[in-house]
Order: sequence, then C-alpha cells, then structure tokens
Amino acid sequence: MSFLDRWFRRAKPYKVMLHSLSREEITGRCRAVAHSYKEQGVATPFAVYRQIVDALVVTPGFDVRPMSQLMAPVDEEKVVISLRHDLDGDIVTGVRAARYLARKGLPGSFYLLHTSHYYGVVENNVFHRFAGLESFVAELIATGCELGLHCDPLYLYCVHNINGAEAVRSEIAWLGSLGVKVSGTVAHNSAIVFGAENFEVFQNKSIGGRRSFTYKGKNFPLHVLDEAKLGLTYEGNYPVLPESLDSDKVAEYLRLSTSDCVRNMEWLRYYFLDNPFFGRGYDVDIWLLGCDAWVIAKRGKGAEVLWPVKTKDVLAYLEQLGGGVRVVICVHPEYISGD
Ligand SMILES: [Zn+2]
Repeated sequence: MSFLDRWFRRAKPYKVMLHSLSREEITGRCRAVAHSYKEQGVATPFAVYRQIVDALVVTPGFDVRPMSQLMAPVDEEKVVISLRHDLDGDIVTGVRAARYLARKGLPGSFYLLHTSHYYGVVENNVFHRFAGLESFVAELIATGCELGLHCDPLYLYCVHNINGAEAVRSEIAWLGSLGVKVSGTVAHNSAIVFGAENFEVFQNKSIGGRRSFTYKGKNFPLHVLDEAKLGLTYEGNYPVLPESLDSDKVAEYLRLSTSDCVRNMEWLRYYFLDNPFFGRGYDVDIWLLGCDAWVIAKRGKGAEVLWPVKTKDVLAYLEQLGGGVRVVICVHPEYISGD
C-alpha cells in the first residue's frame, strides 16, 4: 500500500441512516430559502419561468433536449437547448418547475444535491437521509423529467473527513432503488470553494490526471470513480480540461471570488470564458442569477459575456442565434421562487 493510499484511508467511511425529518419540515426549509431570496431582492417570479418555457414550446427553430442528449448530433437548422435545474436549496419549487415542463411537453433535467438541507445531514460522522425526501423524488419521477445527482463529494471530504466518492456511489444507488435511472451528474459549487471541481472525483475528469488535492493542509483523493461502472454517460458541464493549472490565472480567479461574485461581471467572465479549471464543450450558457437577471456567456467565435440580461432579451438572443448551436439554460429553483 502506498503512502497516499494509507493517507486516503483516513477519510471515514460513508455510512447512511434514516432521519425522521418529514416532508412538511423539508417544505418549511425550502420556503425559508425562498423567503430569504425574496428579502435579498434576487427572487424572480415563477411566471418568468413559465414565460421562458412557453417561448421554447412555440418557437420552431428550437430543439429542446434533456442534458444527456445535449452533445448528440445537431440539425444545422436548429438551436439545441437543454434546461438544467440545479436543486441547490429549494426542491419544492424544483417540483413545481418539473410539473410545468411536463404540462408543456418539454424535457428538463433536474439534479438533486445530496448535501442540501432538504436531502440529509451529517451527524456524528454518519449521513442521515431525510425520510421526507422520498415523496419529492417520487413527484419528480412522475413528471417524467431527467433526474441526476448534483455532486458534492468534496464537501464531505473537506468539511467532515468522510469518503465523498463513496457518497456519490451510494446516493446514485439509492436513487436507483427508487426507480430513477441516473445517467448523469453535474458538479455542485466551483473550485473556488475547495480548490478542485467536484467532477474531478471521476476518473479521466481530473485536471492533468491529478490523483489528489490539498485543502487546509489535508490531502483528499480525486480520479477515483469510474463513471461507466456507475451507469453514467455524461457530466452536465461537459468539461474540457486543461493539461495543468495555470497558477497566475488561478490566483486572479481566486482574487475575484468574493461573496457576491456571481453577480460580478468580471468574475462571470472568468467563470464562463477564462476559467482556469475547465472549459465547457457546448457553445452558450444562460444562467438565472438574480431577479429577472440572466448572464449569457458565449464561447468560441464572437465570445462574449452579457450581464445582467432581462428575460425578454434572453428570448430575443435565442431567436437570433444561428443553427447548430448548443445552449444550456441553467436555473436554480430558489431564483424562480418569487410570486
Ligand atoms: Zn449547485
């Protein structure tokens, strides 16, 4: 056994127990998040989400697909659009969005964050999964949406010294036991939090093939899970990795990473276009990051970042795009929890 292997063995095993937290209590937690977004003035009315979805339904030049199909061949006449929903803090509004898409007959992709306050909690080195979660998952399944895991293994490694890779494996298996065929994941957070991307836990998705990273003087493993063995066919960022990290670019990226950086133009440019940790394999990102405030980031020819963009201008932007372009519209449901 190598020194590194011995060191990694120090992360505690991932053990799961059931916690009695009910559906009503989970709903209360999500409502509190929605309330706080409203107080901060960053919650968009749900009607705005409906407006976007309705426009996608009626515009013939759009080919709306689940995230798993984003990179499949493109008809040169069409703009391919995938709707990505990262369920960071509000699964109640997430279910509402999934139901609206189902009513309109559009596919959408939803990713459950296994470290979220609606999913479970670590107590005494054991992960306790909430009893009330299962009914939300059942509701999402009933809408026919694509369901996947919003991966956060680095939080478990770095904050609790618990085997985060094992958590990813275990939660995919648990969703499978409920009837969800998980074919993809998307990484939660970004490297500014722990110094590595959450998708680096997968083999062949770590930067330069690195096997570990250091956080607060401790070493944690990367490059450990085989996606194919877990039944995974994609990671929704479709990351394009550099061969190594450019330390000057990393330092500048970290310098810009302040508490409210998601609404800072300079940081957004770094995050979407000059990210030292990874690029993305598709063309355009459109993310909702405030009250009726979207960022549009286009890579490749005519690369640009536009912020803040109103919903009506997002729709006009989509309509003027040439065919053969792949777009991801990313919504965190807490941002559409307004009335
Ligand atoms: Zn997230």
